[in-house]
Amino acid sequence: MNKEKFETVIGLEVHIHLKTASKLFCRCENIFGGKPNSRICPICTGQPGVLPVINKEAVKLAIKASLALGCRIKKKSVFARKQYFYPDLPKNYQISQYKLPLAEGGHVYVDGEKINLTRAHMEEDAGKLKHTAAGSLVDYNRTGTPLLEIVSEPEIKSPDQAARYLKILRSIFRYCEVSDCDMEKGSMRCDANISLRKKGEKELGIKSEIKNMNSFRGVRNALSYEVKRQTAELEKGGVIVQETRLWDEKKEVTKSMRSKEEAHDYRYFPEPDLPPLEVEETFIQSIKETLPELPRVKVKRYMKRYNLSEYDCGVLTAEKELADFFEKAVDGLTKTDEATVKTLTNWITVELSGKLNVAELEITRSRISSKMIAELVSLIEDGTISGKMAKKIFEIMWDKQESPSDIVEKEGMKQITSDDKIEGICKKTIENHSKIFKKYLSGKEGVIGALVGSIMKETGGQANPQLVNSKLRELLAEKK
Ligand SMILES: [Zn+2]
Repeated sequence: MNKEKFETVIGLEVHIHLKTASKLFCRCENIFGGKPNSRICPICTGQPGVLPVINKEAVKLAIKASLALGCRIKKKSVFARKQYFYPDLPKNYQISQYKLPLAEGGHVYVDGEKINLTRAHMEEDAGKLKHTAAGSLVDYNRTGTPLLEIVSEPEIKSPDQAARYLKILRSIFRYCEVSDCDMEKGSMRCDANISLRKKGEKELGIKSEIKNMNSFRGVRNALSYEVKRQTAELEKGGVIVQETRLWDEKKEVTKSMRSKEEAHDYRYFPEPDLPPLEVEETFIQSIKETLPELPRVKVKRYMKRYNLSEYDCGVLTAEKELADFFEKAVDGLTKTDEATVKTLTNWITVELSGKLNVAELEITRSRISSKMIAELVSLIEDGTISGKMAKKIFEIMWDKQESPSDIVEKEGMKQITSDDKIEGICKKTIENHSKIFKKYLSGKEGVIGALVGSIMKETGGQANPQLVNSKLRELLAEKK
């Protein structure tokens, strides 16, 4: 129904943890988890009389991430106090950036569509509450962890696109090594503003803000639920209430948390304990030089250099580690013509990725190395083994982590390519299959497939099917 009448408008606010050694304003270690309250100090717990000191590494990573998104870095940005009371926030305010953020503008391409960004700003994270039977406990280890918040324009058109937008951000930030972007550990989090409007209308509808989506699936499902809920409301002539809603992952519904009237007034003001953050052009430039080749650029390079499809290149470059694996494997090939690289691509994106998925392993922990898979593909391409044999060898490679040439040697799996041998096998097969032979003589040339099949079966897949095919045709033609 939504498709006919309404269109969806989504804007996302994404928080990522910056991968620094220490927290944003103190020297406490910045690592996930650990014994509760084991990594805290007077600064991150907001004791009286302490002063925050900005972590230069966090500024560097925030600028690097912003540059990767094409944002304009502001030479001067200002930290501000965002004030609210919550037990996981010991200072009763969070140091964030408000009117003058670190970065503005920028964009991300999602399925060829440009999604513009509003801004990116730095802030500190809060602690964590743990609700137990004995009462609620608070862990301040996370308090003061450096965050970058990336705010998109309301230009995302569907829950699916929102999930893909997030995946692209994650990919970019992992390429830049600014964050793990692990949603399960909370190092990437996302809030969404979503509204509907009648098709063709310019003005935005009334939005609801969705919080607590902790996975890509959660984002997609929460937003899909919200599209349905708002559509039903509008269709029966109701109005959408501007409110904050929480996604309940178990029940798969969003629930109202607070309305606009109850919304926080954070009473922002410039943080008096920190000077404005001023960065010089040379500093920005030096960071720019550390940017890696980003996925979009890599896709184009692969397409041009290897003549692979955009789809293949997208799969290969989605994770930096997979792209690295692919490039190393290409280096290991004995020849790198288009057909060979395409064969390699298929082995990586289909067979190997399938194995890794089942075993729930990252590519960095693959049981088959880039060198091993390159060798396998080279053996296929030079005709030593057939595609069918390669599948068997691949299984052994995965199980025993042996090199393909060792396996071929040990198992005697070399492809039969010698002309004499092939001829001998073909002659024998023709003699043994006189019925098929007669059919062939009567003009049914298609039956040759049955003869090839029979030979492949007899030789355990070791005969080279192309050679068998042409040899059979040659022999049969002689007998006609
Ligand atoms: Zn601290």
